[in-house]
Amino acid sequence: VKQILQKKLRQNKTLKEEYKNKQNSSKYKSMQVNRQNLPAWDKQKDILKLIHDNQVVVISGMTGCGKTTQIPQFILDSSLKTSGLDVCNILCTQPRRISAIAVAERVAEERAEKLGRIIGYKIRLEKVQSTFTRLLYCTNGIILRQLEGDPELQGVTHLILDEVHERSEESDFLLMYLRDLLPKRPDLKIILMSATLNVDLFSEYFYYCPVLDIPGRAFPVDQFFLEDIIEFTKFVIEENSPFARPLKDMNALRQAKYSEGTSSSSTETCHVATKDENLSPKQLYERYSDYSKTTSRVLSVMDLDKINFDLIVELLMWIAEGNHEYPKEGAILIFMPGFAEIQTLFEMLQTHEMFGRKNRGSYRIIPLHSTLSSEDQHAVFARPPKDVRKIVISTNIAETSITIDDVVFVIDSGKMKEKSYDACKGMESLNVVWVSKANALQRKGRAGRVTSGICFHLFTSHRYNYHLQPQPVPGIRRVPLEQIVLRIKMLDILKSNDAEQVLNNLPEPPDPDSISSASKRLQDLELTPLGFHLGTLPVDVRIGKLMLFGAIFRCLDSALTIAASLSFKSPFVSPFGKKNEADKKRLEFAAGNSDHLTVVNAYKGWIEAKKKGPYEASKFCHESFLSQKSFQMLASMKQQFVVLLSDIDFIHKKISARDLERAARSGGDGVVMETGPEANINSDNWRIVSAILVGALYPNIVQIMTPATKFSQSSSGAVHKAPKPEELKFKTKVDGYVSKLFYIHPSSVNFQVRYYESPYLVYHEKVKTSKVYLRDCTMVSVYPLLLFGGGAVSVDLDRGNFILSVDDGWIRFVAASHQIAELVRELRLELDQLL
Ligand code: ADP
Ligand code: MG
Repeated sequence: VKQILQKKLRQNKTLKEEYKNKQNSSKYKSMQVNRQNLPAWDKQKDILKLIHDNQVVVISGMTGCGKTTQIPQFILDSSLKTSGLDVCNILCTQPRRISAIAVAERVAEERAEKLGRIIGYKIRLEKVQSTFTRLLYCTNGIILRQLEGDPELQGVTHLILDEVHERSEESDFLLMYLRDLLPKRPDLKIILMSATLNVDLFSEYFYYCPVLDIPGRAFPVDQFFLEDIIEFTKFVIEENSPFARPLKDMNALRQAKYSEGTSSSSTETCHVATKDENLSPKQLYERYSDYSKTTSRVLSVMDLDKINFDLIVELLMWIAEGNHEYPKEGAILIFMPGFAEIQTLFEMLQTHEMFGRKNRGSYRIIPLHSTLSSEDQHAVFARPPKDVRKIVISTNIAETSITIDDVVFVIDSGKMKEKSYDACKGMESLNVVWVSKANALQRKGRAGRVTSGICFHLFTSHRYNYHLQPQPVPGIRRVPLEQIVLRIKMLDILKSNDAEQVLNNLPEPPDPDSISSASKRLQDLELTPLGFHLGTLPVDVRIGKLMLFGAIFRCLDSALTIAASLSFKSPFVSPFGKKNEADKKRLEFAAGNSDHLTVVNAYKGWIEAKKKGPYEASKFCHESFLSQKSFQMLASMKQQFVVLLSDIDFIHKKISARDLERAARSGGDGVVMETGPEANINSDNWRIVSAILVGALYPNIVQIMTPATKFSQSSSGAVHKAPKPEELKFKTKVDGYVSKLFYIHPSSVNFQVRYYESPYLVYHEKVKTSKVYLRDCTMVSVYPLLLFGGGAVSVDLDRGNFILSVDDGWIRFVAASHQIAELVRELRLELDQLL
């Protein structure tokens, strides 16, 4: 300990000297000018004093005022300036990985430093830091992990929780933990930073701690709603939403437009067919076909509940053509709910006559999403040359975490993705929902950074005023309580408290009914050895299980491909207008009635093609509707997984990330090569791979129930005709014997299957869009269910047949013993070799 301390002190001395010298460098000075222009700069003294005088403070301020980039630096600088040898050690949390990286890079740049020295970042599976690092940006998840081994955050002097207003489950959980920690660490300073939302809640939670508000500077932003937009663009709108503006106004608007239109065809802009007219798109088009000759574009907004991509393109054209009084320059920021919608719009623009490839020189279109590479992220901030227009298509990450300064136009689709959990159905789903008023206001505000701006909301003002929620629902109310329960258990905070009390200590705790059932589970829960290993892996529990089982059952390569694709995304793409073709191609890779194995097959195909050269690899991807970028991401994730597994000694060979990379360069992704053939003897054994999928994803199992088709479990191996996918009714583990209607997603290879060898399907996620879909699924026989199905297996003899059942009584079937013996033997063989 003494040696470490001495080393730290020596380092601190070096850092102080470096800082002194740095202040004269020209790069530092020029960045300093930017920094001094931020509103936070003016408050530097007040902020430092407040932190000095209090253990907990809340700092709020408009987005972009310099909280995230400046406040940690104020603390750092003030400690570098003092004469003593102490230097602070600051952790600053971010709700998302991408913002942790972007901010750390920015701060290092502002200080003319190399990232990873005094400024660093750490996110799941990736860190850039050194022993010199004194300001570390990290995700909330990383702090929660750190607390497992270091419950009092030894050595940390300042913990800054950023974006607390986002109310993510992790951030709320941390608040609870920290409130408990305060008396044990009186020297630890806690700084909560928030956009100007809901600030009192945090102050009250910390027993009315002081709040400092950084006054913002913002230019006014003109706000337009759907009913206004129809005046800007030239299209026909059918307002069929029940939330539309009152009919009276619509009529008035229409009349105005009519008269305008008849008097001068060139100013003719808009027609509104109201709900009561009930026109089909065709009728609508015919009725206005005369106008369509005089107006340049006609389109209809049929379903206001869906995002109208055409309307967005129309707006972009309106902005870009510049026949308006608003600035002719400035970036355009478009808010979309998620990756899929971003991609759709991106691809539409790529083929568009105005924004497409032909005009690449005039437009720089950048998707902004959490899985984006860091070079692409850089492009988001860069100011393009004059005459080039930046169009950023983003999720709500650009709402508060990332500020793009040169935005003048905002187009707000009004939608965002929200994870929600239905406790009755035991189902988590990612839904596209309307934003809250607070989100809409934030989005609007993004347009007024450099000059006055303009914001288009793709919903009516009536919806805004009367139907949008004032605030989004806090994350803690949207996640399965099991998740919170596991956290409490991992962090071992139950010691002196009872479970119910712990849950009730959360800011805005979950409802009492679920608390009492959760607290019961909490008292009973013991962490198993598997649970312990899972807890140390920085991945989702199910993905972690898949990795561990992959190593144990020696099908590592296939298991890691699936694990990577489940945590990232499937490499299959379905380009606009080519969906059928793409679906057909996908079937060529189909394996073992499994979407997961299909991905494994496609991945192998890519590796083979890659060995022939980069051209072959691109060609392969292009022809098969596969994304090379996704494959590259999967390959790098697989390598990281290998390192994680070898860190916890699940793979014997110790390998470094560099070895892996080298192996990858010489062909393949290096996983097979570096972990050796013994880790992969079962990689091509589809039965084993699907068996461990059951182990990982249980209890996400459904059984096809209706129509009452008999499924063969006989030794003859005969299969029976299965019903059409649309008619399938499933029984699920959670629902027990209650039948529910689910649908196999049309993109699944099992959608096409007409003959089912087994009625059981294992899946990763049920998604609720228009219907409840099983997205990716794998058909599994009953044996792995018995072996991995969670419950104890019992064997009875009934009229000469074995009856096996899992102890929850869910699966009950008659089977010949030799079939079971066979699989058990296959799997046991693996265990025997290992143990
Ligand atoms: P806040 O946290 O208060 O929202 P930030 O500290 O994130 O504000 O941002 C302050 C300013 O720094 C903004 O004007 C923002 O555009 C700018 N900025 C932040 N990150 C970068 C970056 N990577 N590149 C360029 N400018 C950046
Ligand atoms: Mg910020």
